[in-house]
Order: sequence, then C-alpha cells, then structure tokens
Amino acid sequence: MTGKNELKRAVCEAIDRNGNEIIELGERILHHPETGFNEDKTAALVAERMRTLDLEPQTGLALTGVKGRLKGKATGPRLALIGELDSLRTSDHPLADPHTGAAHSCGHNAQVAGMLGAAMGLSAIGASDHLAGELVFFAVPAEEFIDVEERLRRRERGEVKFLLGKPELVAKGHFDDIDMAMMIHVGSHDQMAKRSYIADSSNGAVVKQVRFLGRAAHAGGAPQLGINALSAAMIALNAIHAQRETFYDRDTIRIHPIITKGGDAVSVVPAEVHMETFVRGGSREAILDANMKVDRCLRAGAMAMGAEVEINTIPGYLPQRNNREMAQVFGGNVEALFGPGTFDIGGHRTGSTDMGDIAHLKPVIHPYLASAVGKTHGADFRISEPEHAYLTPAKLLAMTAIDLLYGDAAPARKILAEFKPLMTKDSYLAFERGLFRTEHYQPEAST
Ligand SMILES: [Zn+2]
Repeated sequence: MTGKNELKRAVCEAIDRNGNEIIELGERILHHPETGFNEDKTAALVAERMRTLDLEPQTGLALTGVKGRLKGKATGPRLALIGELDSLRTSDHPLADPHTGAAHSCGHNAQVAGMLGAAMGLSAIGASDHLAGELVFFAVPAEEFIDVEERLRRRERGEVKFLLGKPELVAKGHFDDIDMAMMIHVGSHDQMAKRSYIADSSNGAVVKQVRFLGRAAHAGGAPQLGINALSAAMIALNAIHAQRETFYDRDTIRIHPIITKGGDAVSVVPAEVHMETFVRGGSREAILDANMKVDRCLRAGAMAMGAEVEINTIPGYLPQRNNREMAQVFGGNVEALFGPGTFDIGGHRTGSTDMGDIAHLKPVIHPYLASAVGKTHGADFRISEPEHAYLTPAKLLAMTAIDLLYGDAAPARKILAEFKPLMTKDSYLAFERGLFRTEHYQPEAST
C-alpha cells in the first residue's frame, strides 16, 4: 500500500499535470461572475467537470449547489471540500459584468477551481483505494449577503427559506450526509502578513433593512407640514453611534449602516428613507444584545420626528469557530509547501462567513491563502499569483483530506469523537427562523 506521504506527493504531481486546465477553470469563472443563487453557468461547469470524473454530481441543491462524492475503500467520516460559487457585486471592478455589476472581488472563483482541482488530483491517483470514509466535493451557492430584496422575494415565493447558501443547504438536509468540512479562501497579500492564516473565530451578523416613513411637503414653501423621514434616520444613526461605548471590547461589535434611499427630490421633505446595516459581533449573545440596542435607536429616531419605522431583521451569519486540530493538520501542509513560519493560527477576525453556521454543527476550517493583491471586496482586488490561487488550494485540500482519511481515517475519527457541537440542527434552524422579524413602530400620533 502506498504510504501517506507518497500519496500526498503523487496528488500534488497530478494537480500540476492538470495545472493548465485548473487555472483555465478558475479564469473562466473569473470572467463570468454570477451572484448568489444565480450561479447557473458556474454550477453547470462544475457539474460537467464532476461528471467526467465519475463523481455522479447532484445538482440544484439550494437552487444552484452541486455535490459529488468519492468513496473510500471502507466506511468512515465524510469530509466535504467546499468551493463557493458566487461573486460579489462590485460594478467599478475592471472585470465586472457590464450588465449586472457582478465581479469576483472576493476570489470565490479560485475556491471552485481549487475544489475541482483537488477532485481531479485525487481521482487521478486512485486515492480512494487508500482512504476510509468519503470525500464530498461541494460547490455551494450564495455566501455573500447581497441582493437582499431579490432574495426576500425568492423567500416569499417559497424558493428559499434563508437568504444565504449554507443555512439553506442545512435546512434542505444537504449537510446531513457530511461529518466535517473545509474550504480555502483567497487572501490578499496587502492584508496578510503570512502566506496562510486560520483564526480561531470570527464575527457573526444579523442584517437589518429599515424604512422610515414620514410625510412629504414642499421643502421651501411649507416644510412645517411635512414629517422628515431623513431627519428620523439621522437621529437613529446618531443614537446608534452613541451606543458604541456600551459594547464590550471582547464582543468586537461592528455596526455599519448605510442609507440606500435618502429622499425623492431636493425640493420635497423626504417621506421615505431606507437604511441597511449589519450588526456584527463575536458571539450570538453579543449580536442579539447589540441588535436590541439598534432597534431601540431606530424607534428613537421615529419617535423624535413623529415618523414611523419598519424594521426588518434577517438572519445573517453565525460566528465562525475553526477546529484547532484540523487547522493544525492544514497548517502542516502549508509549511510543507512554503516552508516553516509561513502559517499563522489563532486570534479573532471581525468579518463574517456562513461557514460559521456549519461550524456550530460540525468541525470545519476556513483558512485564508494569500495569492491576490488589493482590498478584498474592492475594485482593486485581483489574483496576482494564479498558480497559488488555483493550484495550491487544490493541493492543500487534497493533502489535508489524505491526512484526515488515510488508512482507517484515525485523525478524522478522533476529531469527530472530541467535537462538541454548539447547536443541534433543529435548535440551529429554530434560532435562525426566530431571527426573522418585522416590526412596525408608530409612535403616538403628534398633532
Ligand atoms: Zn469571500
């Protein structure tokens, strides 16, 4: 039987042999960005490639997800290697779709190429003969929380229950046949000190959509007859800013509202003003506490002006918890490829990912690998090292999968035996459903 290290070397060589094709896949997706739940072409490309590898993909999971399986020689842990299908919307990005503004300014195209590259490499060397358990290659939709209105309409039509891909996949049972999961996110050299990094944790978030409703009137001739919804929103914003000293530093609260509609015409007292915000924090309790305070501030703005406010709260991301043991196995492979001291572990990030939702149920890791420059989510974000963006993740996914599942899959079994889920699937779904809330607040009518 081939030794574990020999197998890892062989898979890296197989990925290099398929290098041109893997890079082409990544670049093709880069040039055809599609936003969450609309990733039809990207999903079709994934399914087609999986079929040629005899992975018998299931398609249309949570609308666009694609899942293929490679079974080991014996039963054992089922490890998902995940790639996110969706782009962001960054209309001033040079590679943005001119019609939709969609652009891969978060590098998810590289995740899909890496996931498929791992599948190609592992299939090519017959890795399943040496592994126990199953490898689940999983292309998942809608990680970025954008297009909120469009997704709410999908929810009203019954197409989805949740507005993000992974919660939706959990709700539909598509994570029931997976025990643990990993993915690799592109990072920017401008934001990372080392080649690769895994935090212990990161923030979760709820999403708020807010409408202040006032009364229109001539802004010059008779403003006294109006109710200024923009003033109500401004008071609410100031009230939110005044909350900041009430937050514990350890909770890393981030509240970053924007006004998406500020009025109709400058000569009219604004009668309807729209605001959106995330309320992020390091724990579920911290998010719920900050969210309660934000609601209070929104009502205060309405009350001060005698306006009304409609507050829509939508579940976003749960805080991420990376599994330490999986992270160490992964880090060992980073250092095998790049040398000692190229991998960092620990600390807390203040961004969010819906891998956090999966982390509440199963052991997961969500490392970053630097292969881009510019600001993540910005117009200047660009993959600067195609080989490390597309081929290195394929190698690291495959090597880590071999480490976890080789022989009788002892390392994966140990991680699963020691893992204590923070929630059951049922309590998770009940918590998420409970976050959906619409409040109409109408202070006593003033005369
Ligand atoms: Zn991302």
